[in-house]
Amino acid sequence: MTASGVVQTVLGPIAPEDLGPTLMHEHLLCDIRRPSQRTPEALGPELSLGNVWAIDYGTVKRAARNYLLDDRRVAEDEVALMIEVGGRSVVDLSCGGLSPDPPGLVEIARATGANVVMGCGHYVHDYQAEANATRDVEDFAEEMVEALEDGAWGTDVRAGIIGEIGCQAPWTVQERRVMMGAVLAQRQTGAAINVHPGRHPDQPQEVADFIRVKGGRMDRVIISHVDRTIFDADRLHRLADTGCVLEWDLFGQESSFYPLADIDMPNDALRLRAIRSVIERGHLAQVLISHDICYRSRLVRWGGHGYGHIFANVVPMMRRRGFSESEIDAILVDNPRRLLTLG
Ligand SMILES: [Zn+2]
Repeated sequence: MTASGVVQTVLGPIAPEDLGPTLMHEHLLCDIRRPSQRTPEALGPELSLGNVWAIDYGTVKRAARNYLLDDRRVAEDEVALMIEVGGRSVVDLSCGGLSPDPPGLVEIARATGANVVMGCGHYVHDYQAEANATRDVEDFAEEMVEALEDGAWGTDVRAGIIGEIGCQAPWTVQERRVMMGAVLAQRQTGAAINVHPGRHPDQPQEVADFIRVKGGRMDRVIISHVDRTIFDADRLHRLADTGCVLEWDLFGQESSFYPLADIDMPNDALRLRAIRSVIERGHLAQVLISHDICYRSRLVRWGGHGYGHIFANVVPMMRRRGFSESEIDAILVDNPRRLLTLG
């Protein structure tokens, strides 16, 4: 059984009040190289001042190494910097397909004092193990329940949230089976589900409708990556009307070039405008923000903004743009606390 009324961190359960300001979608240790790039020869150059901009932008220079966060010491330093500027807790959503490392997360939590909550389940189809092709819904559900109740990936370190459950556009049959498994696991454990939607503006709605029809608890379903997926108010408001939680989780990623899709990536100010529009419609309890750091070039160590960016830079911008203290607290403290409290 999962303990009800607590937040399950990698070091064990804590009282929800102890979470504090929380980043709901990050990766501390993660391998997001495409499976075909996962060879030592394909790593490319180490990042340095002379190449980091070009590698980050990604049109001329590529380095697979940029997509690999595999150094616990670096992660500890980066989390310590987040704590210095007011962050307290981090959710690591490196699930199946992204090289999850529960003992690594335990070490980072111990070394830094941050609360670290771990995800479970499986990322997008193209990253999943071949064995997933023949697994059924119940098998996926059972695996996620076990991760939440006993421990994940062969360890006794328990997950505290389901996800990020990956979807591509078009959505594959295998991904639907994983998502159905997530809905069943939510029913049994009360955990929130984080969804990584496909890169088509209608995909988040497709997933949300699926989860609603299958009996998921919409107030405990988080749709990630709204900022790279939905660019019009109609779609945004229709999605909010399902009751799901909307996550703008690419804060700090402000490059006009986005290698994964030809979109107009918003900057942080435009993200805040979109958030304002849903708050004005009464959806404050459905808003989350985070950075979704999964590249080296976004870490302070390699010239990036790091996990502290929201606390150091975005919160002051929110104040300048008229967000009240209670709205900021709702987004960074109250909503994460409600979503991470099991039951
Ligand atoms: Zn994602």
